[in-house]
Amino acid sequence: MPRGNGAVREQAVRGSEPGALEQEVVPLNAWARLLLEQLGDPRTSGGRWAQAVKASVQRTDTLRLLATPELDDFLRRVGDATAKLINMENYRRRHLFFEGRGIDCSWMSAWSRRFTDYFEIYKLLGSKNFAEACRLIGEQWKSFVGLLRAAKEGRLEPWQKVRPPGYRKDKDGQRIPIVIVRADNYRIDLEKRVLRLGYWNVSIQFKGKPRWLTRPEAKQGRLIIVYDPVKKRWYARVSVEVTLESKLGGGLKAGIDLGRERLIAFVTEPVNESGEGVALLYRGGPLKADYFYFEKKIAEVDRMLSDPRLEEVDRSVLKEVRRRLYGKRKRRRNQLFANAAAHLVRLCLGLGVAVLLLGYPRGIARDKPGKGNSNMWSYRGLAQRIAVTAENRGIPVFKVPEDGTSKVCARHGCEVQRGPRGLVRCPHGHTMHSDVNAAMNILKRGGGKVPMRVKVLSFVPTASKVVAVNEKSSNPA
Ligand SMILES: [Zn+2]
Repeated sequence: MPRGNGAVREQAVRGSEPGALEQEVVPLNAWARLLLEQLGDPRTSGGRWAQAVKASVQRTDTLRLLATPELDDFLRRVGDATAKLINMENYRRRHLFFEGRGIDCSWMSAWSRRFTDYFEIYKLLGSKNFAEACRLIGEQWKSFVGLLRAAKEGRLEPWQKVRPPGYRKDKDGQRIPIVIVRADNYRIDLEKRVLRLGYWNVSIQFKGKPRWLTRPEAKQGRLIIVYDPVKKRWYARVSVEVTLESKLGGGLKAGIDLGRERLIAFVTEPVNESGEGVALLYRGGPLKADYFYFEKKIAEVDRMLSDPRLEEVDRSVLKEVRRRLYGKRKRRRNQLFANAAAHLVRLCLGLGVAVLLLGYPRGIARDKPGKGNSNMWSYRGLAQRIAVTAENRGIPVFKVPEDGTSKVCARHGCEVQRGPRGLVRCPHGHTMHSDVNAAMNILKRGGGKVPMRVKVLSFVPTASKVVAVNEKSSNPA
């Protein structure tokens, strides 16, 4: 097994924290898992493969269904029956669990009740789709077991919560419909834009551009149809298995630090003989502005809601408005993350970056739910978006521990002083962007070579586009 070269090993030895190498790097996408399997730790292996490799991944295409009133009735009927099945099964399994009689992860235990407790539901769903619903229930309990194990071994992320699968019910106690269709019980006609459901012999028109289903090697999996009560629309989520390819060999490593002021700070290894690297900075301004805009709107609604003289009718209208605002804010944030990630990954390919190293959150504080935190700034949301976008383009992404990366000079390993305007000062007499320095430290921890100089490019991502900014201080590092 190739175990790296001299330069990389020297980096590790020179590293400011001797313990850094013992800490875990965590693969964040399929390429990173494959790389870890085939080449070993990316910090010492160099993390680059010689020839193209392939990986199968699961993707989801979402189609908006154009349901007529009859189809709406049909989806509600089937969706409600499936929700009832899930609730009854989860009720039974939760009791087993809370009474200490074990965890039932099996799909067969639900399936075996098809001629008794669930006979009506079974008839309505058909055997294939009933079996698929049982499988989904079993899978959710399996993932609960996985989380329990992770918690026991202390591998849980700060934002992960361990709860047994619950009930599909809204705040008013109404069941939330869900239609589950097995892979071999539906067909999607991409030309006519029609979804055909086998057992029920029903055709539904859809809108939306499927991204993955159109690929020649795409293999359709489970189909799930859900209702969005805010938008009052039905959506079909098709899981698709696709084969991706990664051809990146001999490329560079790059470090990424995620933050609030600078959403993304990115630094490559040296790109030329003179040891110069490239730094990309994505500003967090628009994300913040968006957040506060919606925060204000929501606060206005809350103020109106707190009026005790408010009629019940108006109250429910206002609650609906509030739900819409929350939904819109989240969508805009996700769109902004998607734009920034797509832009970053495109530049990575242009720069020849073959491995991305992403800093871990600094402690729990980063994703602690609460004001201005999980809503505006979702470390996990942005990290996952970068990992998936990079996966689509063949780039492995690893998480690297980042504690203390902002306090130490990436070049000299000594402590830096915080200066004005987000700069840090090194006792060796140079200043840097603190986020660029943090990203360089992450790069270094991932076994990358720290550039002696960097060229900084700045961008402003919004929910609709990414704009380049001309920065005067072209070389602050
Ligand atoms: Zn220094």
